[in-house]
Amino acid sequence: MSDDQELGITESKQYNTGEWYAEVVQKAGLANYAPDGMSGFIITRPRGYALWEGIQNYLDSEFKATDVQNAYFPMFIPESYLEREKDIVEGFDPEVAWVTHGGNQELEERLAVRPTSESIIAPYMAQWVRSHRDLPLRVNQWCSVVRWEATDTKPFFRTKEFLWQEGHTAHRTRDDAFEETMTRLGQYRSLYEDVLAMPVMRGKKPEHDKFPGADTTTTVEALMPDGKSVQAGTSHYLGTSFAAAFDITFSDEDEEEQPAHTTSWGLSWRSLGALIMTHSDDQGLVVPPTIAPEQVVIVPIYQEDTEEKVLDYAEELRDDLAEAGVRVELDDRDERNPGFKFNEWELKGVPVRFEIGPYEVDDDEVTVVHRPDGEESVEARDEVVDSIEDHFDEVYAKLYAKAEENLAENVRDAEDRAGILGTIGQHGGYVRTPWCGKEECEEEIKETISAEIVMVPFEDDEERHHPDVAEGCECAICDDEATETAFFAKSY
Ligand SMILES: [Zn+2]
Repeated sequence: MSDDQELGITESKQYNTGEWYAEVVQKAGLANYAPDGMSGFIITRPRGYALWEGIQNYLDSEFKATDVQNAYFPMFIPESYLEREKDIVEGFDPEVAWVTHGGNQELEERLAVRPTSESIIAPYMAQWVRSHRDLPLRVNQWCSVVRWEATDTKPFFRTKEFLWQEGHTAHRTRDDAFEETMTRLGQYRSLYEDVLAMPVMRGKKPEHDKFPGADTTTTVEALMPDGKSVQAGTSHYLGTSFAAAFDITFSDEDEEEQPAHTTSWGLSWRSLGALIMTHSDDQGLVVPPTIAPEQVVIVPIYQEDTEEKVLDYAEELRDDLAEAGVRVELDDRDERNPGFKFNEWELKGVPVRFEIGPYEVDDDEVTVVHRPDGEESVEARDEVVDSIEDHFDEVYAKLYAKAEENLAENVRDAEDRAGILGTIGQHGGYVRTPWCGKEECEEEIKETISAEIVMVPFEDDEERHHPDVAEGCECAICDDEATETAFFAKSY
């Protein structure tokens, strides 16, 4: 327990987002920074890990319900394996950490610490796939990967080692593989929209920003309250390029040898960073009840002469809630006063608080307070266990509505270079604009205000397209014909 005066958040979310975020992460007990000499790494504390487990449990059950099996591959990859797919090496080389010694012995071949696992998984998929009857093949692994980026540490958003899942599948046809790609993207979207109370936009990455070796990279993007976009999960249709590099082939019905179409898809604990950033406030962490390690905290309020009856009442209520499957904590610490407890549980992000004093006991009632906005109501004791799900739904709806409003208000159109620069400079958020598809046009914007094209909407997602593109117009940056809609934003 830290000192009382250290407990509260001192930075402002609105004016000092970066410092505020770091403070919430540490004071809500989610993570610590690693020791000197290990900058870029973090220690994930139990409360932080519990949130990650909530994300993990949801996705894992969705994956398993759709025929994915978990497996585990070594964290080291021989250099020669990485080199088999040249595009990957070019994509990741500067960020790869290498093992050169085992004990005192120099290795004959150095080993990469996995920046992603395609090049160690694909050779085994090649062994496992023989005939069309072996397809589709779907494996997923939960693991950490290392990318040695020289940037400032931002817990969960940017760390040299991060936790994620990576799914890898092989299919007979392009259509099957593409459908798989979209299925996984859809599961990422439902994680955000149904569990984390965060609306996201689905789309594709521009050609020049695809995953190395991929045919199509799809993404879900989430808008943060500071106007920056987070790439919140990606799903890649890899075509037959990995099959060609690693001999993932199968014999079809006519005994002809065919290359498999493969996919890979990953979601990291950046999702956790985005969750914290989206909902939390100047009092501390805010998370929806769907994922909160404790959904309800009961704070008893008593004097010496009422202690026994208040605590008895509170304990019985705790037991009833726990029996109904609610994650509930009774804070009966004698050495802390109720005000201190309120602040501490607000800091830790418990979505619903029950207050029980002598009046509640006498009237057979419970005072219920919602974390996000402090809304207070009084419920009858014999109804509160049944109505708790309604409170959870209300809290969830409040959080979702606020995030949805932020997204809706921050997609703006621009039809020329000055419009893009001015709009992002003034408001942040997304600028939707007609685009010719050339990387140079993005470069020009990137160099001026470090905003990039985070997403291009899918062809059939007409609502997301800039209205002028369908009618025929020029690229907002050059004079060529616009062929698609680009979403520019600054990003994490
Ligand atoms: Zn252009």
